[in-house]
Amino acid sequence: MKLIASLILAAFATVANAQERDWSAPQKPFTIYGNTHYVGTAGISAILVTSPQGHILVDGTTAKGADVVAANIRALGFKLEDVKYILSSHSHEDHAGGISALQKQTGATVLAGAANVETMQTGVSPKTDPQFGTLSDFPGSTKVRGVSDGEVVKLGPLAVTAHSTPGHTPGGTTWSWQSCEAGKCKNVVFVDSVTAIGPDSFRFTDHPELVAQFRGSFKKIEGLACDVAIAAHPEVNDLWGRQQRAEKAGSAAYVDKGACRAIVEPGRKRLETRLASEKR
Ligand SMILES: [Zn+2]
Repeated sequence: MKLIASLILAAFATVANAQERDWSAPQKPFTIYGNTHYVGTAGISAILVTSPQGHILVDGTTAKGADVVAANIRALGFKLEDVKYILSSHSHEDHAGGISALQKQTGATVLAGAANVETMQTGVSPKTDPQFGTLSDFPGSTKVRGVSDGEVVKLGPLAVTAHSTPGHTPGGTTWSWQSCEAGKCKNVVFVDSVTAIGPDSFRFTDHPELVAQFRGSFKKIEGLACDVAIAAHPEVNDLWGRQQRAEKAGSAAYVDKGACRAIVEPGRKRLETRLASEKR
């Protein structure tokens, strides 16, 4: 009887893990690998990379989620004022909506792909965004600076590299760094969204330069040294399943050399399906 009950519970847990969670709901923070910690909400990733000389935060989740991220940073024993940089994956409300409030609380410099800087400042997406017209505005940030492809953000012993991965937004950026645990260092990648989404009225076929951007981004992400991948939407790389497995397996549950490729594959299929549907 007990076994059946736990099997049913496990089945429910699996369903819950596969489903999208609330983008602004609280989530207990946890360590992924070494100095890489999850401080995001239940449904949107935010990552804190820590050092004795200060910390780097990747993404801020939603405007409502900013409080969750701030509380999570404190719950792990870190100070908000020690966050020196906030890096943005892409300038949409679900990932960047909380950055304005977090910037104010930390005093950090916000770094984003050069083509997304204006959107980060205003909270209003440009016409060149495939989702233009369907996006929510979000609070704009101050102290925003653009980064270029390959630029390395340094803070004490930390070095985080920006990889331009445009398509989903014009200045979309994937970020990578190394984290070490008991002398073993891993390449950690925060993978930006690579989904081709837009209203039916938007035809990707009419924007060959955008299609080329997506294809270039797929290739770039696949080619990265990638031992631990964190997707902007955590369920995309089964973060919740991994977290469960980590209870027994430790941080090994997050290590997966094929993860960057696995994240890109559905994005590529989605783009090709969309292009094919536009031909009909
Ligand atoms: Zn987005």
